[in-house]
Parts: sequence; structure tokens; C-alpha cells
Amino acid sequence: MEIGTFYINGEFVAPKGTEKIALINPASEEEIGFVVAGNEEDVDLAVAAANKAFLQASSLTLEQRKTILTEILEGMAARRDDFAKAISEEMGAPLKMAGSAQYGAGTIHFKNTLAIIDQFKFTEEHGNITLNRLPIGPVGMITPWNWPLNQICTKIASAIAAGTSFVVKPSEITPGAAHILAEVIHETSMPKGMFNMIHGHGAVVGRAMSTHPDLEMISFTGSTRAGIDIQKHAADNIKRVSLELGGKSPNLILDDVDLEAAVTMGMKQCFFNTGQSCSSPTRMLVPQHMLKDATEIAVNAAEAMLTGDPNSEETFLGPISNKTQYEKVQTLIQDGIDEGADLACGGVGRPDGLDKGFFVKPTVFTNVQNDMTIAQEEIFGPVICLIPYNDIDEAIEIANDTQYGLSSMISCSDPQRGQELAKKIRAGQVIINRISRGDYPAPFGGFKMSGNGREHGHFGIDEYLEVQAVIT
Ligand code: NAD
Repeated sequence: MEIGTFYINGEFVAPKGTEKIALINPASEEEIGFVVAGNEEDVDLAVAAANKAFLQASSLTLEQRKTILTEILEGMAARRDDFAKAISEEMGAPLKMAGSAQYGAGTIHFKNTLAIIDQFKFTEEHGNITLNRLPIGPVGMITPWNWPLNQICTKIASAIAAGTSFVVKPSEITPGAAHILAEVIHETSMPKGMFNMIHGHGAVVGRAMSTHPDLEMISFTGSTRAGIDIQKHAADNIKRVSLELGGKSPNLILDDVDLEAAVTMGMKQCFFNTGQSCSSPTRMLVPQHMLKDATEIAVNAAEAMLTGDPNSEETFLGPISNKTQYEKVQTLIQDGIDEGADLACGGVGRPDGLDKGFFVKPTVFTNVQNDMTIAQEEIFGPVICLIPYNDIDEAIEIANDTQYGLSSMISCSDPQRGQELAKKIRAGQVIINRISRGDYPAPFGGFKMSGNGREHGHFGIDEYLEVQAVIT
């Protein structure tokens, strides 16, 4: 895709920046298009448009907000194949999965927001005090490449419900789905300037957004490194900064489970999207006496996952989305070997039969100690660490022995025990005996260095609101 325009004030306009960032298909390593990188002037124009539209955005009635959300959903449905193609070509997700999970992870946020918006209390009475929840003001949104539609859609569905205007900067690696979304929104009844989209490098466009005096908030999803940088640069004008960052999530397998089912489910969840999910359960904690069997099951599961052509219906693992990330994954696999973890399958290099593309061998390390690099650093590839534990206290200690706290899984036969253990895990989400998140839009966000925000549903809308007390 060739993306030579930005979306500002309800129009597709020529950027002020002129640099072209090449878009690379990670399966073929071929150039498939470009996106023009913006500069500070583009940021100023987009922020000015969002500022001008704020009053109109904040005056939209609930019915008007619901109409816009519905129109976006309908428009997205008509472009489903285009979204899938752009996501698959730009970040390597298998095409079938891009059209189901990746696309679905975007649309679900509009559906969920529509399902709960009528119950959201924008105003509350407490005796002589009225509490108004008012939109915060123009918001800058910066998103990553791994679930390119999901992360934009959760932010904008909540922001539309809250009634604020916003400027989106998608990842420069995956601008295609975002550009299609802008085309969809262009056809809706959204007021001009409420939604603006600009592209470019994090260090230029992202930085200019973080420091911009006329943005009241930055909602960021991406690496902990960039999150820290944004928070520092946003400090000078007391911006609210909502951060959704990295993870190193534990999957606690108790000794009373069906091991085959629990390990297989954990492997699928960990390697889904080629291991490129912030919430992937990458540390599987297994009772010491079950480690040998768990390793065998994990290896069988890994070897059953087909790696290769994203256009094939059979493919489960596509390539890693970009060269830098591919090299990082290779380095970390070598670190695991060098530090003495047992390599049960996979390893460095491409899988047999693939001589180009950023493909990684599905890799299982076992007998991993939690202080090893592979157990502490986010790898973001199809790599899992099996870590043995001796008793439940030690398991909880290992689960929490990480700088992150985004998600976690527990496999157990007694759900009540799972509920009790969940309270001891320092993570924003604990998923017990299942993979999918279920119907209710569960809040998503991290403890510790995984961030400070909560997205989806009621909590997502709350992020974009200020509380005003009116006292009579
Ligand atoms: P990244 O931080 O490099 O980039 C994310 C976005 O931030 C991009 O749009 C980039 O241009 C921009 N950016 C980069 N540096 C910036 C800076 N200094 N100032 C402002 N903007 C900047 O991350 P990535 O490599 O695109 O994505 C992978 C990371 O995202 C992983 O660490 C993953 O765990 C995390 N992630 C977190 C969640 C979550 O909800 N917690 C979801 C998905 C991904």
C-alpha cells in the first residue's frame, strides 16, 4: 500500500513531511509500498483540528455517539478483506487469522462500547453534589504493530463514547489497516476534526505529540521503553498519560489438572499471533515432578504448529513482523542456550525449508530458572519458557518475580482455588481455565511496568473523562 496522505479536519491531505518509510512484507522481505513520515508541522495541524472540533465532539448526544459507533462497525464490515490483506502483508499474520482474530479484535470494541454505553453514568447525584464526567480534551493516541487494528479501535471506540476529539499515530510498520479505518470513518457522520490520523516515526511525530501543549492526554500502547519516554516528555504540561506496555505473563499450572489439555492450551495462547502479544503467557510454571511430561506435550504442540506462507490456510505461525524484532528474537534464543536453559525444540535460525522471511522456529525452553534473560525479557516471538516449581508459594513468588504485571493464566481443577490464587498475582488480568476473554468487556491493563491504564468497556471510557463536582 502507498500511503501519501494524512487525515486532518475531515479531509485526506498532503503531509508536510516528505520522507518515505518503506513497508516491508516480512514473509518475502520485499518492499510492498510506503508511508510518508510526518513532521512537527503535521502534528501541529492535526492537533489544531482536534482542538477546533473538541466543543462539537463534546456536545454530541448519546444517540449521535451511538450512531457514529454503529456506522464505523458497518463500514468496517464492508472492508473486512482489505483490513485482513493489509495486516497480513505488513506484519505477517496468517491471512485467515488476520481476517478473523485481528479484524475481530478491532470490531469487538465498537460492539462492546455500544453494549454498555447506555449504562455508563456520565452524571451522578449525591445530595447537593452533581458529579459530571466530562471529556478530557483532545487526546493523542500512539499505537504499535502487533494488533494494529485492535489497539486503535479500543482507544477510539472509548474516546467517541466519551465525546472527545483525538489524533491517532499508528505504528509506522503497519499503517495500512489504520489508513483503511480512516477511509471508513470519513464516510460516517463524525464531525470534521474529531478524528485525525498522522503517520511517522515515534521519535519525531510521537515525541511532538508527547510534548504538545494542546493535547490533554496521551493514550499509548507499545514498549515500556517508549512509554517511559512519553511519560517524561508529557510531564511539562501535566498531560494525563495512559500506558499499555509490555508483559512477561506467567501461566500457573497446578498439579491437579489434565496436563495434556492445560499445556496444549497454554502453548496455543502463547504462540498465537506468532508470540507477538503483550499478554502472551510466556512463562509456564509447572510442578517439578510434572516437568518432563509437560515438556513432551509442549514440544508436540510446538511441532504441530505449521510455520510458513501467511496465505496458506494451514499456517499457524507467520513470520515475525520486522527485521529488528526478528534479530532480537534470535539473540534472545541464543541467550537462553548460553545461559544453560534446556532447549527442548526449535532454536536459532529459520525453520527447515524456509530460506527467506523473518521466520522463527517454534522454540520450547525447559528447566528454565526465572532469573535467566529469557524468563525476564519480553521476547515477542514463538518462544516459551517452562519453569519448574516445588510448592504453590514458590510458584506465586516466581509468577510475581518480574518487572511486568500485565496478564496471567491459571490452570486448576478447583475454580474457587483459582480465584483465591488470582488475588496473589500482581497482574491486571488472570484468566482461569480458558483462552478467550468472554462476553463482558473485561478491563485490560497492567500493574508495575506493564503500564497504568485500563482499556475496554466502562474502564476504557473512564480513561477519557475528567470528573467535575457541581455543588449547589
Ligand atoms: P514501540 O514502543 O517501539 O512503538 C509503539 C508506537 O510508539 C509506534 O507507533 C512508535 O512509532 C511509537 N514510538 C516509539 N518510540 C516513541 C517515543 N519515544 N515517543 C513517542 N512515540 C514513540 O513498540 P512496538 O515495537 O511497536 O510494539 C511492541 C511492544 O508493544 C511490546 O513491548 C508489547 O508488549 C507492547 N504492547 C503492549 C500492549 C498492551 O496493551 N499492554 C499491546 C500490544 C503491544
